[in-house]
Amino acid sequence: MRPTGPLHLGHLTGALDNWRRLQEDYECFYCIVDWHALTTDYADTSAIRENVIEVTVDWLAAGLDPGRSTLFIQSLVPQHAELHLLLSMITPVPWLERVPSYKEQQQQLQNRDLSTYGFLGYPLLQTADIIVYRADAVPVGEDQAPHVELTREVVRRFNNFYGPVFPEPKTLLTETPRTPGTDGRKMSKSYDNAILLKDSPSEVKAKLRPMVTDPARKRRTDPGEPDVCPVFDLHKAFSPPETREWVVPGCRQATIGCLDCKGRLAEHMLERLAPIHERRPELAKRPDTVWDILQAGSQRARETAEATMDAVRAAMKIRY
Ligand code: SF4
Repeated sequence: MRPTGPLHLGHLTGALDNWRRLQEDYECFYCIVDWHALTTDYADTSAIRENVIEVTVDWLAAGLDPGRSTLFIQSLVPQHAELHLLLSMITPVPWLERVPSYKEQQQQLQNRDLSTYGFLGYPLLQTADIIVYRADAVPVGEDQAPHVELTREVVRRFNNFYGPVFPEPKTLLTETPRTPGTDGRKMSKSYDNAILLKDSPSEVKAKLRPMVTDPARKRRTDPGEPDVCPVFDLHKAFSPPETREWVVPGCRQATIGCLDCKGRLAEHMLERLAPIHERRPELAKRPDTVWDILQAGSQRARETAEATMDAVRAAMKIRY
């Protein structure tokens, strides 16, 4: 995960809930990819350090357990960079140019010059991030699946040249419920439409109150359609079936108002956020402990990554 600052509900439903569950069945490595932040935000790096802490505090509050999983910072494990360099020797440039996010992001982020070497190579750095742990599986949303496919191609090419060092990682496709922000677009810090995990109950309610709804419901007496309403998308992510069954006819027959609907949503959302709200302030007060967790995790990650690099150097006949 990139160090983008405090996390929001989209991160919770799209990644953290799943990551927390995976801890039960897998040996997990969760990495804050500060070098990846540089691929797009290289001109202003002033927020990265603070953002690393914010992300880690949210991870811990959301239930990632440093006793079970390895939580670490990418740049504290230089083996990622060494492997990236070695993989860059064998990866044809067109493989990177055809990754869908390459062109998409260049178009979307037109205020930045993304014609850099680092930006073209970031899916290959991701490949190194994955295979330096000889990972069997990578939990990703659908938009990231092409990156895992690239990883598998690079692994096949490497193993073909130098012998079977890496397993081909599987994609653990995560069902990511649509999590719209308060303006109906995808929830994102850059759109200023996000409900943050650290928002207090009154902030959550204040953000939900003016949230956009089905535009057909201008008045309380106008019937609406939950299927086109972003508030209902949030109900799908946070409310139990009974509440959704209350919303659907109530909205279509105009027997409930949008504020009633949002009020119920706020209740369920806050129930879900309660354990995070309980743990987060304590963690935020102890940044030194959070750094210690990241340092210890990075040490563990370095040991695993170095064992891989030893095998890589031997396979490539550059171990001296
Ligand atoms: S009642 Fe609920 S689902 Fe229907 S338009 Fe209003 S907020 Fe959306």
